[in-house]
Amino acid sequence: MAILGATGSIGLAAAEVCLQHADELEVVALSARSTSDRLVGLIRQLRPSALALTDSQEGGETVHALFPQLELQVGEGSLLWLAQREDIDLFLVAVVGIAGLQPTLAALDRGKTVALATKEVLVAAGPLILKALEEGGGQLIPVDSEHSAIFQCLQGQEKRSLRRILLTASGGPFRGWPEEKMAQVTVEQAMAHPTWRMGPKITIDSATLLNKGLEVIEAHYLFDLPPERIEIVIHPQSIVHSLVEFQDGALLAQLSLPDMRLPIQYALLYPRRLPSLVAPLDLTQIGRLDFHRPDLERFPALRLAYTVLKRGGAAPAILSAADEVAVQLFLDRRIGFLEIIPLVEQVLSAYEDTLPGAVKLRNPFSAAGSLEEILAADHWARQKISEIAVLLKRPPING
Ligand code: NDP
Ligand code: MG
Repeated sequence: MAILGATGSIGLAAAEVCLQHADELEVVALSARSTSDRLVGLIRQLRPSALALTDSQEGGETVHALFPQLELQVGEGSLLWLAQREDIDLFLVAVVGIAGLQPTLAALDRGKTVALATKEVLVAAGPLILKALEEGGGQLIPVDSEHSAIFQCLQGQEKRSLRRILLTASGGPFRGWPEEKMAQVTVEQAMAHPTWRMGPKITIDSATLLNKGLEVIEAHYLFDLPPERIEIVIHPQSIVHSLVEFQDGALLAQLSLPDMRLPIQYALLYPRRLPSLVAPLDLTQIGRLDFHRPDLERFPALRLAYTVLKRGGAAPAILSAADEVAVQLFLDRRIGFLEIIPLVEQVLSAYEDTLPGAVKLRNPFSAAGSLEEILAADHWARQKISEIAVLLKRPPING
């Protein structure tokens, strides 16, 4: 197998799973953006034979000096080089954002199995991924905890027996906060997720709740359900990872402590269940499980995601690209927390304005069937949001 994004939160958790099941999983290749002590440690432990470093400034000299046998590729195209290797059957895609798209497509085109953590890939290019899956004859297994839970609950069930799915959301660190207080949120506060430890992009997405919005789109493609059959339920304890409702009214759920090693292991060893490093769940210690309706007024990202999903075409790709940039602007302290989602909305409406009237009436976001069109929409959204941000001309904020 290969781990794309090995030095990240998912990548490191996956490395633990691979070490525990070294007799089942042989790690042949890794990727990271650049060299770090973390990466060197991973190479020592996992002993891969190939490495991709995607940062084009990176020469890879340090790793080469330490591991001269390692096959090394540097630059943006190196992920694709990994994805095209014939000695790999299973790819764990756990990079951030659109960078995961082309390697995922390449692996699926070759009939490989992809364990997908990078939800932005499905959001930006759902139909294209499904086409590659069908034509290539590969397999796509979700790693995102909610989608893994649903996937687990659906094992052995007929597709037509499914009525709807309920995606659980912790609600993020600002659940129940008044708007005035949310306007003052700092990067540090937004980075302190109550139940999960994750990379910066998804942690901020979890605070705006756009992460759950992206997950609705992800679920739509994975489980072939229309938006009205995908519901969001706030569940602050993050113990119930999602639920499935069948035609007879029965609900099935998957429960465990919030620890990504479980869904990662399930995806990597699917369909087998072997002992894991995740501590068992003591329900009497948890005591109670709460469920609430989400507040769509205070978290407009949820409604936005449903609107974008109904639009289809290039809209999800624009949403995802604009969000990648907006989150980075917030992390760089150039915009405030409550500006993230409005900025994304501004890019989406600017896109609508660029299209000719006749198309606009039908579906302003109709074009984006091919990889080229998706990449063009992604590129356009990044440029647009940068232009808007320049117009804001604001000094650094949030300290
Ligand atoms: P991290 O930021 O912790 O790690 C990202 C990894 O990908 C690192 O190895 C990083 O390399 C590499 N990387 C980052 N950007 C790029 C890029 N543009 N091109 C190539 N490689 C890149 O992220 P997470 O592990 O938290 O998340 C990874 C993906 O999984 C995201 O899409 C996220 O939404 C999804 N996910 C994560 C969950 C979690 O619990 N963390 C849960 C569910 C989904 P380097 O270290 O060199 O920078
Ligand atoms: Mg999730």
